[in-house]
Amino acid sequence: MSHISNRQLFLDHVAQTSPAPIGLEIVKARGIYQYDINGKPYIDLISGFSVCNIGHGHPDVVKAVQQQAAEYMHLIVYGEFIENPQVQYARMLADLLPESLNCVYFTNSGAEATEGAMKLAKRATGHSKIIAFNKSYHGSTQGALSIMGDEYFRNAFRPLLPDIYHVDYGSDAAIDLIDDTTACVIMETVQAESGLNAPAKEWIQQIRKKCTDHNVLLVFDEIQAGFGRTGSLWAFGQYEVIPDILLLGKALGGGMPLGAFISSWDLMQTLTSSPVLGHITTFGGHPVSCAAGKAALEVLLDGKFISDVKKKETIIQQQLQHKAIKQLRTAGLWAAVEFGSFEINQKIIHRCIQNGLITDWFLFAPECMRVGPPLIITEDELIKACEIILQSIEEAI
Ligand code: PLP
Repeated sequence: MSHISNRQLFLDHVAQTSPAPIGLEIVKARGIYQYDINGKPYIDLISGFSVCNIGHGHPDVVKAVQQQAAEYMHLIVYGEFIENPQVQYARMLADLLPESLNCVYFTNSGAEATEGAMKLAKRATGHSKIIAFNKSYHGSTQGALSIMGDEYFRNAFRPLLPDIYHVDYGSDAAIDLIDDTTACVIMETVQAESGLNAPAKEWIQQIRKKCTDHNVLLVFDEIQAGFGRTGSLWAFGQYEVIPDILLLGKALGGGMPLGAFISSWDLMQTLTSSPVLGHITTFGGHPVSCAAGKAALEVLLDGKFISDVKKKETIIQQQLQHKAIKQLRTAGLWAAVEFGSFEINQKIIHRCIQNGLITDWFLFAPECMRVGPPLIITEDELIKACEIILQSIEEAI
């Protein structure tokens, strides 16, 4: 039998999402590094798009996974049995959130959390109108796609959900549109895929007020922005506003698949009747994912990682200066490095990968390079990463 490389098998048998996958074959990942089949190390400057906030392969997380897998894995559909990893993690999250966010519905993914939140908002208000934002990303399933803020990605899949209104992030139009017929406003607390857009505090507070005045639910998506990325455990903490529903995912599972939509207990109760089982999921809140997520969150909180984020943000701002960089937007240990075009950005990204640094572009800002390393990155490692970017710019253009 002839030997077929994994690369060929990947191309032939694993469903492709684009004509140009990054295509690295990684065999091991530890801390901020990923290692390919030749043993070459790469600094991970993406963290799996904010999944690996405490880096790769932390022994506490590995141990939690192994122990839970040995106890039990899947038992029954979500919500029927009392599963220790799930209840302990829900309690930990509730303790770390404002009192009104005390009830966690665990899902498989971020997109499923978005779906759950949209359903909850419709069910609780009796309305279907949803206000969402241009250049926002909340997942790729059909409900989440309906509120995605980009016509190119939506258009081929119509008909999608009706009664969705898209407005610009930060615009007065968002506030004007909120009325008594609105189910919810759904927004990323810091918009990610637009190439990082942090909202003005007054604007987000005005949205909160108008939602409260009209009994409209405010949904914050912190699937990428949560878990310390912006310098506080929850990004909304910096804006002094509390959502009615919070979406979490990515780092929530500590490297395992997990999402959640979180609200008050009373609000969440509306999914238990008329119809009963208002949201059903087989694998949501998987015990191994919950055990891993809780262990990862403990590591994140025990280290000084979140309190060091702002200092590391300053390092990025100081280091990443080059005439080819048109703009640098940061939001904690998270940066969008804007170049003149997608083509230039692509060349630099390829060069970075050759130089041992994994980075990528933003979905709705292809001219921007993504900088979002694990929060455990040291200052020296971060400076080294910035030096590789600057060297790659020089080599690529
Ligand atoms: N919301 C945001 C802000 C995201 O960045 C993502 C994923 O990139 C999602 C939702 C969807 O999460 P998932 O890919 O787990 O479905």
